[in-house]
Amino acid sequence: MKQNSKKCAALLAAAVMIGLASGGIIAYRKLNSPQPPNTQKTQNDTANSSKSPAKKLIKLTDSVSVKPAAGDYTADNHIWRLVNKTHPLKNSKYRPENLQLATVDSRPDKPEEERSVRADIMPDVEQLFASAKAAGHDLQIGSGFRGYELQNTYYSSYVNTYGQAAADKFSSKPGYSEHQTGLVMDIAAADHNCYLETCFGETAAGKWLAKHAHEYGFILRYPKGKERITGYQYEPWHFRYVGRELAAALKQADMTLDQASPILLGKSSAEKSR
Ligand SMILES: [Zn+2]
Repeated sequence: MKQNSKKCAALLAAAVMIGLASGGIIAYRKLNSPQPPNTQKTQNDTANSSKSPAKKLIKLTDSVSVKPAAGDYTADNHIWRLVNKTHPLKNSKYRPENLQLATVDSRPDKPEEERSVRADIMPDVEQLFASAKAAGHDLQIGSGFRGYELQNTYYSSYVNTYGQAAADKFSSKPGYSEHQTGLVMDIAAADHNCYLETCFGETAAGKWLAKHAHEYGFILRYPKGKERITGYQYEPWHFRYVGRELAAALKQADMTLDQASPILLGKSSAEKSR
């Protein structure tokens, strides 16, 4: 009985001390925390999460999701910008501000402009080419950026030679070409084996690129069997930069940028796109 009352007194004292201590910690936190009181914080969090979808993953398919990117995906300079036959650049004379002559091998007979890509993607271009070389494939940029005027020259000559219907299958009107974004490369093997020909996809270099380009942020933009979706014939040499995360997701989902774009923009859901 005596021992019990001693225990009770000790427990009571401990409880008081814990209470004081935790009260003290709470008071200390209140003084030092820049956060508003709890109730307001909860309201703010709710408001923020409904306003900024930045924290929510975008579901491309049942099993493939990507983190949203910053910025306006429809801006001409966004790395997720969809450019195809129905989505021309907003500014048909658009020209990236940060074009840079490629630091990797490029066709010396091409104009400097066409041997350039955006400076911000150059590190990934360099790593892609270095990895290809390590695997035994010497690559070259056959065609990078093409401005409005240059594209106009090419397109007009193709139309004159092959007729518009044929030209439209492999070339683009100026303002409608992905090459004008500075995010695209037509890649050649240094020996020009199957250069700009579908057999490039059967070469060792072409196979390596199809398998690994996404690891460096590039997608094979016009795959075989997706001509109706992309509007272009199979082009195993044409690679478009979208960043490493989206490139990996598109590869995993077996999806083109044309299919993914409405989902990324929140105009279509993964379920609807199927
Ligand atoms: Zn191309």
